[in-house]
Amino acid sequence: MDRRDFLKITGGTFLVGTSCAYAFRFLATSVAGADVETGQAVKKWGMVIDINKCRSDCTACVNACRQENNVSFHADKRWDIHWIRKVNVETEIGTKTIDKPVVLLCNHCEKPPCAQVCPVRATYKRDDGIVIVDHHRCIGCRYCMIACPYNARFFNFKDSEEWPNQEHPKRSHGVAEACTLCAHRLDTGRMPACVEACANTGAGAIIVGDLNDPGSEISRITTTRTVKRLREDLGTEPKVYYIGL
Ligand code: SF4
Ligand code: SF4
Repeated sequence: MDRRDFLKITGGTFLVGTSCAYAFRFLATSVAGADVETGQAVKKWGMVIDINKCRSDCTACVNACRQENNVSFHADKRWDIHWIRKVNVETEIGTKTIDKPVVLLCNHCEKPPCAQVCPVRATYKRDDGIVIVDHHRCIGCRYCMIACPYNARFFNFKDSEEWPNQEHPKRSHGVAEACTLCAHRLDTGRMPACVEACANTGAGAIIVGDLNDPGSEISRITTTRTVKRLREDLGTEPKVYYIGL
């Protein structure tokens, strides 16, 4: 895949998405700030992916996500879903063309078009910035899939076949879902499964942290290093930052 194709994929659905967005009233989403009851600062979770540290032959993050969230692999590509995936992007450096592995997942947009178009408010943004789907509310209309400019949403055509993590439900058919940033882990002080798996390989290419905390590692990186976000021109304010893109 070359850079142009990559940008087409990540941006190609936006025009259809915006027309959908106008078809429904704007559904308000939570805004991070101070907790109204405690007055304490609310977290705003974000992610940094350093693609210079990511090896193209490694799938540790993808496998860990499948295990943690019961996202089954379906050999038939019509049914397969993936909350995190890797694509190779051709980049020209001087006279050379090299392949760079790019990890793609939900960007947990600060202004998420998927939440704006959801007619039943199954998709919403939490106060801490995580965009999530209530799978009990979702009616499977798939407007969110059309609205997402990053192709980050997948529709469960089938129930999960395997159930590796029995602390969580299987993925059920008829629901459109995406990465939850392992909210269940962050809520209990653990890092997302992909972050842990990547660290265990020694690469440490994925970092998750609180963008509202000026002392956090993610704040230090995003304020002192050159980082890029995908399709910033769309105004969705993605919270996944890339180093080396
Ligand atoms: S990347 Fe797509 S699914 Fe994720 S919050 Fe943004 S619009 Fe929604
Ligand atoms: S598929 Fe589900 S989450 Fe997506 S817009 Fe429809 S009801 Fe909302």
